Amino acid sequence: MSTPQAIRGTQDIFGAEAEAFAHVVETFERVRKLYRFRRIEMPVFEKTEVFSRSIGETTDVVSKEMYSFEDRGGDSLTLRPEFTAGICRAFLSNGWQQHAPLKVATHGPLFRYERPQKGRYRQFHQLDAEILGAGEPQADVELLVMADQLLKELGIADGVTLMLNTLGDGASREAWRAALVDYFRAVQGELSEDSQERLEKNPLRILDSKDPRDKVFVGDAPKIDDFLSDEAQAFFAKVTGGLDAAGVQWTRAPSLVRGLDYYRHTAFEFVTDRLGAQGTVLGGGRYDGLIESLGGAHTPAVGWAAGIERLAMLVGDSGKAFEEPADFAVVPSDANHLDRAMKIAAELRSDGYSVDLPFRGNFKKRLKKADEVQAAYAILLGLESAYQDQITLKNMVTGQQTNIDESHYRNAIRDPKYLDILGGAPRPGFGRRFRQASSI
Ligand code: ATP
Ligand code: MG
Repeated sequence: MSTPQAIRGTQDIFGAEAEAFAHVVETFERVRKLYRFRRIEMPVFEKTEVFSRSIGETTDVVSKEMYSFEDRGGDSLTLRPEFTAGICRAFLSNGWQQHAPLKVATHGPLFRYERPQKGRYRQFHQLDAEILGAGEPQADVELLVMADQLLKELGIADGVTLMLNTLGDGASREAWRAALVDYFRAVQGELSEDSQERLEKNPLRILDSKDPRDKVFVGDAPKIDDFLSDEAQAFFAKVTGGLDAAGVQWTRAPSLVRGLDYYRHTAFEFVTDRLGAQGTVLGGGRYDGLIESLGGAHTPAVGWAAGIERLAMLVGDSGKAFEEPADFAVVPSDANHLDRAMKIAAELRSDGYSVDLPFRGNFKKRLKKADEVQAAYAILLGLESAYQDQITLKNMVTGQQTNIDESHYRNAIRDPKYLDILGGAPRPGFGRRFRQASSI
């Protein structure tokens, strides 16, 4: 019988890649706390209308990419293709207006029926940050500064550029849209099939097209700057002023639009050429019209999402090892010392050290395992050269070892001078959590 295969476009993430993935999420968690975004947990599925009403029927996401199905009760449900619409639904369902301006962050899996390729999957994962109920340009700035710091903390900011645009307010955007329709209609026959269709439904998206037949016309297309109202211009100036003040570098991208209909004012992407065609790692903008489209009161809001897999690929590039070596391996010489080994491993772990306990094979095999996990130290139990109530502490780098009474080994190994006896300082990162906890 053949074994089941994974669904096309899904991934089983393991080893260094999984560590890089976790590192991205952990870094995001740390940074969102610095910016005081509150953590939220969201359902993975919603009523289909949550996405169709907000994202808009004319977008690729709603028209081609959603995983929708009828549940046993006959309701049409959809696996979330993005976070924003669900968060806005939750904002309305729970009366979160009382917390506005509300800064929230979350992360998790999303589902889109796309053509799978490197950096593009059918189940992928995003980090997400939103500020709901804030019409001030400072909200846009804060989100962008946070995104910039996240990339810096991940060590991947070099070679990633913030591309920034404004889509103006509703009136500016409408005027621009009309001009784009006139411009592209004149060359309609030469556009890609997709863009001919976009011309009727969603002409801004033509600017976003990757098809070379469309690209030749994009350069000379009407620019939003010629249609911006004074208010929209002033808003954009405050965003760029705030970024400059915070030291965030940005590049103006006059034909950058976001795929989704609800965007107003600020639109942005962080892009790199290090990931081939899938070079956008983080994207977002202001979506002042979305909550209204779900039946709520007019509520300005702004946010971004970043692809965790794409960030993890960049992190992987920088060559950092996230599969960390163990601080200790506890190695019983035979099965009689297994319980003792368990006790010592539990004690060390509760003291904040990472510990491996090789329990398979003979003593030699276990020692070899301690070497494989690159333990800084081994604690050997039951050696003939030690008394029964002693443990043997071995420096795995120098090979030096010494016996310590088991009754006070925990104190002894906390004493850096004691560890020095064993041939100098331990490996970098040794006892990381313990040292962090004790330095508070
Ligand atoms: P694209 O133009 O690449 O399709 P998008 O506009 O659909 O991007 P968003 O909806 O803004 O992307 O999602 C934000 C981020 O999520 C993207 O910048 C990217 O990093 C990531 N992302 C989007 N779709 C996928 C996918 N199918 N697989 C992996 N990551 C994705
Ligand atoms: Mg897409």
